[in-house]
Amino acid sequence: MVYRIHPINRCKDVSSGDVKMRACIIGAGVGGLATAIRLLQKGYKVDVYERGYLLGGRALSCKFDERYDSLLKKFEMRIRGIEPSLEELKELAKGYSMDLGFHLIGGGKNGATVRLLQEINAGVKFAGSRLGFVGERIDYPILRAGDKMAMLPRIMQLLFTRKEKIEEMKRMSVEELIEKYGRGTMNLVLRLFPRLITTVNNLQKISAGESLFAQRELMGGHPVVYPKGGLGKISEAMADYVKRNGGRIYLNARVRKIIIEDGRARGVMAEEEREYDAVIATMPVQHLFTVAKREEFPKEWVERIKNLEGTGSFISYHAMDGIDEKLLDKSFVIMEKNDSFDGGEVVGMIDFKMNYLNGVAPHGKCLVQSYVICTPQEARDANKMEELREMVERNLEKLLPGYRKRMDWCIYSSICHLDGVAKTIDNEKPGVATPVKNLYIAGDSVNSKGVGVNCAVDSSRLIMEEIKTPSLL
Ligand SMILES: Cc1cc2nc3c(=O)[nH]c(=O)nc-3n(C[C@H](O)[C@H](O)[C@H](O)COP(=O)(O)OP(=O)(O)OC[C@H]3O[C@@H](n4cnc5c(N)ncnc54)[C@H](O)[C@@H]3O)c2cc1C
Repeated sequence: MVYRIHPINRCKDVSSGDVKMRACIIGAGVGGLATAIRLLQKGYKVDVYERGYLLGGRALSCKFDERYDSLLKKFEMRIRGIEPSLEELKELAKGYSMDLGFHLIGGGKNGATVRLLQEINAGVKFAGSRLGFVGERIDYPILRAGDKMAMLPRIMQLLFTRKEKIEEMKRMSVEELIEKYGRGTMNLVLRLFPRLITTVNNLQKISAGESLFAQRELMGGHPVVYPKGGLGKISEAMADYVKRNGGRIYLNARVRKIIIEDGRARGVMAEEEREYDAVIATMPVQHLFTVAKREEFPKEWVERIKNLEGTGSFISYHAMDGIDEKLLDKSFVIMEKNDSFDGGEVVGMIDFKMNYLNGVAPHGKCLVQSYVICTPQEARDANKMEELREMVERNLEKLLPGYRKRMDWCIYSSICHLDGVAKTIDNEKPGVATPVKNLYIAGDSVNSKGVGVNCAVDSSRLIMEEIKTPSLL
């Protein structure tokens, strides 16, 4: 089918008299907004189309109301349980700011997200912490000074391995790394951090090189941070920059088709057809073919993209009426053996940053957010989600003995698309260029640095590197 495109008038850059290039971004998640910022900084005219009514994509903030369930479904999430009941929660959850579920951003000031926000002077403040561990006893932080000293030589050797050596190690699994170096506390460290970095439990699937590289990049900042005022502050600040700098963001504007002619993306069809010099799609990449005809791409590329695996998770919120002040703002890693899960051991986190001091809960209250890593298949299994709920609650009991007496309400859910594409050895993330000219992919599906929010934001850097090519300029 041939589309009729109404060409838009090219905009004159008043200062230089240059003709500006026009870019269209599909999706106002953090990946799309970060890309919009970078393109505006390079002088592009930028339009962002978002199918939903909220900014932020999977990293949004909202209030609990009747739309929460449908919002979750839009992102392939499912509520698995509510206490006391949905009706009562509508009243009880008033005054809380929620996200789709557990969110912490890795690496603090060294992660792509905080760095970009600082660069644009966004003024977003973060609550940051180290990580504790809930084992037989509770350790905060996980590593005591003595442990660190004992591990230091090995850590230095691994973290400061030459880049080339790390490249070689990309095909080596963390399991192999543990066999070689995993004695004493180092064993615990290697069983925890690579899993947290990739949101994958199976150590055979996690690349040793990727994990070490990620850990090295993030050294020196808070291991995890949460924005004061709620996760939505990130997308709000980014959108504000976009609008102040002449970009346009259309909400409730679903892109129905990417118009491709002769192997080149010419524009998109939302309410009407519009022509662009670059089209950047940021939905999980497996969904690209809902808006771009698969016949326009080589078969092998379509097959590869369609078969890329995301990551899953169990997520819960427990609203507490006051907690021990010593716990406020801290995060704890949990780990249990469980042979019925891929990897034989499951890792998760319980975090206390969503509290009244950070402006996301009513006075004196705290929304304890938790998650446990699983595969997308496991996330679809109600019995397995029940097992993970029990695991979270067992560990929560260790941190907050008798917590149920102080619990106002709780909600738990599962997600099959935490990350667009898992960072594993057998699941190579694609680059931002596609076989169709002027069509790019960005967001957490591509091979940028970090996972989740950081990966999505960092994809904007890869877009700028790619888009410098003469085909566009
Ligand atoms: C419950 C949950 C917990 C998570 N926890 C963490 C965490 O702790 N730490 C972390 O770093 N990451 C976490 N993540 C992952 C993180 O949220 C994502 O990696 C990140 O938000 C992805 O951003 P993105 O811009 O790539 O994609 P998205 O946020 O998915 O944005 C894509 C946007 O495109 C829009 N869209 C799709 N199709 C169309 C269309 N046809 N037309 C117009 N718009 C369209 C969507 O509505 C969406 O807003 C979590 C995710 C979930 C769901």
